[in-house]
Amino acid sequence: MTQEPPGPSAARLLVVDDEAVQRLIVARAAGTLGIAADGAATLAEAVERVQAVAYDVVVLDLGLRDHDGIELLRSLREAGSDAVLVFVSGFDERVRQAAARLAAALGLRVAGTLGKPLLVDRLLALLRALPERTGAKRAEEAPDIDPALLAAAIENDEIICLFQPKVTLQDRRLVGMEVLTRWRSPALGLVRPDRFIPLAERSGLIDRLTDRIMAQSLELFRPWRQQRPELTLAINLSPISLTDLTLPERVSTVLADSGVPPSALVLEVTEGAVMADYVAAADIMTRLRIRGVKLSIDDFGTGHSSLLSLLRLPFSELKIDQSFVRTCLHDPEAPKIIRAVVSLARELGLQLVAEGVETEPVAELLTRLGCAIGQGYLFAPPLSHAGLVERLRATVWAEAVR
Ligand code: C2E
Ligand code: CA
Ligand code: CA
Repeated sequence: MTQEPPGPSAARLLVVDDEAVQRLIVARAAGTLGIAADGAATLAEAVERVQAVAYDVVVLDLGLRDHDGIELLRSLREAGSDAVLVFVSGFDERVRQAAARLAAALGLRVAGTLGKPLLVDRLLALLRALPERTGAKRAEEAPDIDPALLAAAIENDEIICLFQPKVTLQDRRLVGMEVLTRWRSPALGLVRPDRFIPLAERSGLIDRLTDRIMAQSLELFRPWRQQRPELTLAINLSPISLTDLTLPERVSTVLADSGVPPSALVLEVTEGAVMADYVAAADIMTRLRIRGVKLSIDDFGTGHSSLLSLLRLPFSELKIDQSFVRTCLHDPEAPKIIRAVVSLARELGLQLVAEGVETEPVAELLTRLGCAIGQGYLFAPPLSHAGLVERLRATVWAEAVR
């Protein structure tokens, strides 16, 4: 069987099983259908994953050593997940059926149940017949959220910061992390940034939100930075912030309050944001640089900006977009583009980061192409503060932090 590399819009699957062999079997089977698979061995790991990633399918072993898998169903619901579930269990059919009914009662969709030992053909049949995904549409179709609810959420600290590691591709050392936010709403469940950031932008809440995110994440970051002074913290900026001439002042204030030096902060901005009002953006970005803050071009390669105008700005980092990274193994153009961006970054003295690194072969190719730093599910999904601390102990990329 040949393994199809997942395309940019490929389905994502999470297999939750405490046996490594079972995880491997499921991941292999998914791979033959072009479905990218992640594994989780414990309930805690699985919860972490479903909070960070919008999965299409979750294959769940009901007999996890530390917990019954049922607890994950609640987490899926809280995360607003629309993943389709496949239950696997060595228990008899009635237990599996009961689990399926419980999931349905929680509003989750169930594709079917499988016994153990796992029959790959049965699994493949279930995966082939998956109901159409609804997640992608959901953000747009979801009913409008009342801005007052978001305003209250900002005050009540319902906005949480997750951290996704950036690591050196060659020796997997942690060099920094990007803050990716979620809204943990008692009324709405877990809301993803593509749903509440645009709402904050439309309703004039984005400055308050960004200030809260900066303050909160810098505070969590400070102790890590004390251990490893070269670590950086990257925060995403809304395009609207790049038209606000008071931004440099606000950033300086938050930094002074946090005790983190400006050189540890990276602000990520997209090409489109810069080009929308170039003069204002150039003004604000130059003043941020003078204050010592670093700037990163996010999603590089997706805009249609004039390269010259873009590269005249005082950036320190360039993040090559996931679309090139994920296709680099099977699209012959992608490696050429990456190679060109590598030499561009080198000439201009910019740090280059590849986003969306999901597999080892992709990491290897990127290294061969000369890209030094990567970020993606291969190393870690966006992790909670506790999740990151846990991983700092356990994995190679973090060993140096101890
Ligand atoms: P982004 O800045 O381009 O962030 C990268 C997105 O890719 C994140 O989605 C991340 O979870 C996801 N990702 C990371 N590694 C992989 C991988 O290996 N494979 C795949 N398929 N995806 C990966 P997320 O967390 O849903 O955030 C979506 C977007 O929301 C972000 O895109 C960013 O533009 C925006 N955002 C998130 N947090 C904030 C924030 O605090 N402020 C602002 N203004 N925007 C934010
Ligand atoms: Ca980003
Ligand atoms: Ca990006």
